[in-house]
Amino acid sequence: MKQKYERPTIKKMNTGLMNKFGTRTDFDPVKDIDGVPVKNLIAEYGSPVFVLSEKQVRRNYQSAVRSFKTRYPKVQFAWSYKTNYLNAICKIFHQEGSWAEVVSGFEYHKALGNGVQGNQIIFNGPDKKEADLVFAIENHSLIHIDHFDELYLLIRICEQNNKKAKVAIRVNFDTGVYPIWDRFGFNYENGQAWTAINKIASAKNLELIGLHCHIGTFMLSTSAYSVASKKLCDLAKRCKVELQNPIEYIDLGGGFPSTNTLKGAYLPGIDTVPSVEDFAEAITSTILDFGFTSDELPTLILESGRVLIDDAGYLLGSVIANKRLSDGRRATIMDFGINILFTSNWYDHKISPAQEGSQYTEETVLFGPLCMNIDVVRESINLPLLETGDQVVVHKVGAYNMTQWMQFINMRPAVVLIDQNGQSHQIRKPETLEYLEMMEQIPEHLK
Ligand SMILES: *Cc1c(COP(=O)(O)O)cnc(C)c1O
Repeated sequence: MKQKYERPTIKKMNTGLMNKFGTRTDFDPVKDIDGVPVKNLIAEYGSPVFVLSEKQVRRNYQSAVRSFKTRYPKVQFAWSYKTNYLNAICKIFHQEGSWAEVVSGFEYHKALGNGVQGNQIIFNGPDKKEADLVFAIENHSLIHIDHFDELYLLIRICEQNNKKAKVAIRVNFDTGVYPIWDRFGFNYENGQAWTAINKIASAKNLELIGLHCHIGTFMLSTSAYSVASKKLCDLAKRCKVELQNPIEYIDLGGGFPSTNTLKGAYLPGIDTVPSVEDFAEAITSTILDFGFTSDELPTLILESGRVLIDDAGYLLGSVIANKRLSDGRRATIMDFGINILFTSNWYDHKISPAQEGSQYTEETVLFGPLCMNIDVVRESINLPLLETGDQVVVHKVGAYNMTQWMQFINMRPAVVLIDQNGQSHQIRKPETLEYLEMMEQIPEHLK
């Protein structure tokens, strides 16, 4: 095929990127997702399009559960809705046995709508409206209190309605990883957590059944989880001994990293991040070594988000055009930008061409399609020379992109699930102008 004319510049061409670990040729085309050709997916659902692999979601979930269950007798996972709350995705996790972890009234109702029983919904976060709390109490959900104002509100609601609520507190502490996430929950070191526990123990309508933490996200330190586990165990023991209030569960939250590569990292994430097994080992050994009697041993709850879904998600897109920047750098304009790939702000996503092409690679800036200077998908990536209409696969985009995406300049694209038999299903339609304008209203004088 004849290549399009481009004004020549002198540039070093790379065949494979050298570093001290040898040559990494990561430019092999990725032509299909779970056996379904990329070009068929784009032809059927449009470009760009998000694609999720049901097989990979289930594999991730089952493997994470196995890592914990082989090390600890009582384990329960709760799917973090904000990570990806498309109903089809949530239902996969619930089918696998996961509870729901929600952080707003809207997510709470979504979980109920997905058939999750009230007593299997964990209600986290600093923003629970009074109506949400009333509803959660009626549905026997597990309310994780974030601050004293919420605690007092709960006490008042329970008294007014003559109801009892099952609660836990979120605790934050120094785990050796800084900055400390101390804006959520009650602090351990300054005694605030213990004060909250005392207040709950003395409130006749509140039953303290759990202790919760979520120490950060994309955590690279397993020892931080050992410290967190130890501190929650300490509190649990004090609840039993000093308040005769045994604790049913401790909830270590989420935060395990996916294998994405953080921006600026020297080595790819796949070679550096600890595995779920490593975290499971750190957490379960700490709890088992703590010295609970076997009937005291609390249930261990995990609220993992990104590690369970990130590598099951792909973004397929197409090249709009190539150009040379003023300094001679090659720039490629893609049909997806940071509006739908929010995580490109902190990850260097792996991007593969979806068809055979040039053997030569060149350092390229990948721009999105938005009329906005900050719309840069990759500041610098070595890619085979792509041409207009060529397709690419962006890897590991399953977490947070489909909840934090913005409708800006363009519509949000379709989301497709490939089931375990290789069938594709549209699980969210591409947005349309009609959909967007459905929420708008024109005042009479402008009609
Ligand atoms: C976001 C969140 C999670 C999931 O976090 P990941 O880092 O994606 O695992 C779990 N628990 C709480 C309270 C959260 O806010």
